[in-house]
Amino acid sequence: MSFEIRDRDLLGRIGRFETKSGVVETPLLLPVINPNVQSVSPKTLQKEFNCRALITNAYIIKKNFKDVAVEKRIHSFLDFSGVVMTDSGAYQILVYGDVDTNPEEIVRYQEKIDTDIATILDVPTEWGVSKRYARHTVNETLSRARKLAGMKTRDDTAWVGPVQGGQHLDLVAKSAREMGKLPFQIYALGSPVPVMEQYLFDILVDMIMTAKMNLPQDHPLHLFGAGHPFMFALAVALGCDFFDSAAYAIYAREDRYMTNYGTTKLSELKFFPCSCPVCIKTDPDSLMATPKIERHEMLARHNLHVSFSELRRIKQAIFEGRLWEHLELRGHGHPKLLQALKKLDKYKEYLEKQSSVTKKSGLFFFSYLGLARPEVFRHRIRILKRYSPPRKAKVLILLPQTRTKPFHKSREHQKVLKEIKKRTFENEEKIHVCTYAAPFGIIPIELDEVYPLSQNEIATPLDAETIAYVEKQVADYIEITSYKKIILLQDEETWKGKILKGCRRACRKKKTPFTVLSGRQIWDENTLKDFLSAIQDNLGPQHGMI
Ligand SMILES: [Zn+2]
Repeated sequence: MSFEIRDRDLLGRIGRFETKSGVVETPLLLPVINPNVQSVSPKTLQKEFNCRALITNAYIIKKNFKDVAVEKRIHSFLDFSGVVMTDSGAYQILVYGDVDTNPEEIVRYQEKIDTDIATILDVPTEWGVSKRYARHTVNETLSRARKLAGMKTRDDTAWVGPVQGGQHLDLVAKSAREMGKLPFQIYALGSPVPVMEQYLFDILVDMIMTAKMNLPQDHPLHLFGAGHPFMFALAVALGCDFFDSAAYAIYAREDRYMTNYGTTKLSELKFFPCSCPVCIKTDPDSLMATPKIERHEMLARHNLHVSFSELRRIKQAIFEGRLWEHLELRGHGHPKLLQALKKLDKYKEYLEKQSSVTKKSGLFFFSYLGLARPEVFRHRIRILKRYSPPRKAKVLILLPQTRTKPFHKSREHQKVLKEIKKRTFENEEKIHVCTYAAPFGIIPIELDEVYPLSQNEIATPLDAETIAYVEKQVADYIEITSYKKIILLQDEETWKGKILKGCRRACRKKKTPFTVLSGRQIWDENTLKDFLSAIQDNLGPQHGMI
């Protein structure tokens, strides 16, 4: 049993997980199969959806089909030759208060039915419980997890170690740290039902990140109960590798139709925004008139198609290095998801550390949300902590961003650069040109072709948060460097005077002489003439720097 990571973006990864019934690719969606009620049969899942893995409930099977499932073994019992994962039924026991089993019995039963991925009988932390009770769920789950080694008799079953703690993040951290020390092949996060039902995705971000930061990184993480495709991108980006979905069937039974943005009642639909084999053959009115059982089966199949295609889209986004873009796209589908995206700023340091440096494609910046991206944070750290300006540089010239990139090759910058060369002669190396640009802040000329400083597109006009961010980057840069003079060519229209404000503030603090040139048309001949004379003036011997 091994987990091999092939591609990654943010904390999301395309990986291969080996089980005794074959290899599965992550991120992986496991449809939930209820052995009592099947809206879509395991065989159909395999044939129509090319589904390689499913999850079912060992407790329900044990209760209803006890020895039959043991005799037949789970794969032929379900008529499914792919990978079968079983949940322990802890949730059912919690809801229905059944005490007709114990942790050891559930472990043994999962081995006997030959399940590929099995779960210990954990104690779920419910929503709104006291910290004391939450602590009990964590400790009791850990105690059962520690006993697994003495209970199991097979070595070819992959075991899942569930992390508990609910919304008590310190408990989630403890639970993850302790569970991570135990030899489970997969770790899982149990998310309380209201988190999913009430779309409390910002709380979910905290829960997943806390678990993730405290668990071993080289094992898959399963997110229990995350069945709606519109939040897959968020969960994958935060490092969840496995999902189970009962939602496709539950929603279908309530005549609810899934989309990538949420759920719609079938009765409210006039058109199907989908081209799956179900939707292509019918329309909402005809489906509404179809007998119930058949209708629910069709809706369940549509819901599965939406779920699987979203997962494929996410994988392609990881492959292309565009998971952030996809995440923002989904974030704008629902306010609660956008709220969750805003939370990512809190974790930008960790996201940066875990994210790859190179990518196959350029970046798109839609808004200030992108400021939490690993690439933006990484540039900021590099400039402020690891970068030093060229040794002989005395004068910092700040030029605004241009439409064309790399900036130093743009017509506008070339005009300035050529003149500087012409007028400064041997003093050229005393001048250091940097661009101030969204979203990265300060871009030294010698770095402006380094990925991704030129390989990005940004939407203008800039929002206030992005302007404030760049203003701070410029001011911080001036504060940590020791130029003798700073000259700003101000693009007032784009930056609303904020870059000037930041420069002034920093220069006053450092007591560095500062000159600003601005005009309505900053790149026109007159402004540039003044700007160039200012540069020339500041290079003379009277300024004590030559
Ligand atoms: Zn469809």
